[in-house]
Amino acid sequence: MVNINKDDLIFLPLGGSNEIGMNVNLYHYKGRWLMIDCGAGFADNYYPGVQMLAPDLSFVYERLDQFEGILLTHCHEDHLGSVGWLWDKLQLPIYASPFTAAVAKNKLEQAGFGSNAVIHKVAPDSRFEIGPFDIELVHLTHSVPEMNAVILHTEHGNVLHTGDWKIDPNPVEGQTTNIERLKTIGDNGVLAMVCDSTNVFTEKHSGSEGDIEDSLLELVKNEAGMVCVTTFASNVARVHSICMAAKRSGRKVVLAGLSLHKITTFAKENGFLHDIDEFISDTQIKNLPRNEVLVICTGCQGEANAAMSKIANGNHPFIRLTPKDTVIFSSKIIPGNEKTIFKLFNLFVRLGCNVYTEKDHFVHVSGHPSKEEMKELYGYIRPEISIPVHGEPTHLHEHVRLAREEWGVPKQVEIQNGEMIRLAPGEPSSLSHETFGYFGVENNNMLLPAAGEVLRMRRRMLNDGIVFVTIVLSKKGKLLAEPGISFPGVIDEEEYRDVVFTISDELVESLQAQRDVSDDNIYKVTRKVIRRNIKDIMNKRPAIEIHISRV
Ligand SMILES: [Zn+2]
Ligand SMILES: [Zn+2]
Repeated sequence: MVNINKDDLIFLPLGGSNEIGMNVNLYHYKGRWLMIDCGAGFADNYYPGVQMLAPDLSFVYERLDQFEGILLTHCHEDHLGSVGWLWDKLQLPIYASPFTAAVAKNKLEQAGFGSNAVIHKVAPDSRFEIGPFDIELVHLTHSVPEMNAVILHTEHGNVLHTGDWKIDPNPVEGQTTNIERLKTIGDNGVLAMVCDSTNVFTEKHSGSEGDIEDSLLELVKNEAGMVCVTTFASNVARVHSICMAAKRSGRKVVLAGLSLHKITTFAKENGFLHDIDEFISDTQIKNLPRNEVLVICTGCQGEANAAMSKIANGNHPFIRLTPKDTVIFSSKIIPGNEKTIFKLFNLFVRLGCNVYTEKDHFVHVSGHPSKEEMKELYGYIRPEISIPVHGEPTHLHEHVRLAREEWGVPKQVEIQNGEMIRLAPGEPSSLSHETFGYFGVENNNMLLPAAGEVLRMRRRMLNDGIVFVTIVLSKKGKLLAEPGISFPGVIDEEEYRDVVFTISDELVESLQAQRDVSDDNIYKVTRKVIRRNIKDIMNKRPAIEIHISRV
């Protein structure tokens, strides 16, 4: 086990430094640990049938008594999405600003831990202590309200953990990035900046949320039909912009999707969305002319159970689109989700709708900093060490290069998930590589290890199908009937009858030749015959399920 000195100031990411998503960042100071964020990740094809991904926090569970708590920077899924799923094992106090706390509380309630969790509400732009950690929050603009960068004031120097941010003079909801405070922090000296790398390959400024409303209005004001706009439910500023564009074009707003109802309620309770009109309910749509309705929908990434998918497939109970209606994807196409989202575009086009997306119209601005904004922040902060996070290895690598070659940062650490870095005392150095990993989350509470049997089996069935074999033996192990074999997802049994007969005949011969008629040996022999034949004929390795009954 790694040798940690009580005085070491350490940074250890367990998620988010190998992918965009699932951020978990740990800091060690004076013998104690603090977790910043506990996020969820999107599941790709490697996790068939899985809702989302949660991090493997074995490192945390092994030294839970050394942990002070979890500090949440903001309410995005990739920063707090796992608190509910992992609460049972963590049971640490949570610290979050009021709006983020409301979202976190809801996550815990969904997972069945609502009343057990302790959530301390902390004010944006405040300074407080969590154990030995002297913490200051600094408000930075992002695509959700209350995004708090974290400054750890330590006797070795200060660390700025940026969280997700951008620079936007008109963020619509919430405050602007606190540039004056950032300048002062930089003037006081910063040991290390742990910084967002999402848009490190984007040259142009991320753009202002304030410009979206006018652009949306231009698109919808002359439309004859109903308008559906989808965005991330947590993007409260975007919801505000959409509502204002609706109001200015004489449309009432309907919300479609549970998370939109929840987030807008939390937002209003915390002082956001205070100047928009009341929403109308989806059952009222039928009483209004179609050109007086605008629906805000969940499901901008093509999620199967969200409103957008249901509407596209004609499965929504109250919302039906007809030709001349308009659909706007006011959101980013997240890499990896392209196919699913394009499928939706196509469905809407087939319905005869006008479809507008970020590809062809100004309907979205990113919540993350471009190179231009990153350069500006590095100019204010002038850290001694740059540690890029929130990115895939290519993003982190490019961020390190820019910090070294263009932004004048003396030291850089190209970190990856699981790498424990001592920031001080002394030069930054790698101490160890700790366990990190992924769990597929199902049904809101079941965690399936990425390399575990269930997911391994699913992957195999998905790619190579499955073979079922039923073998009936007498008590003494004599084969009483021809084995029943079926090949779902492997071969068409009608078309390949001869193959089925060949395998069946060979299996009968092999089983009859066995002296050892124990279950173990029967399994082994059967598996061998099936595997070899399918490999020879199809070059496939299906899952094999064998049932033996003795009568
Ligand atoms: Zn975010
Ligand atoms: Zn994020």
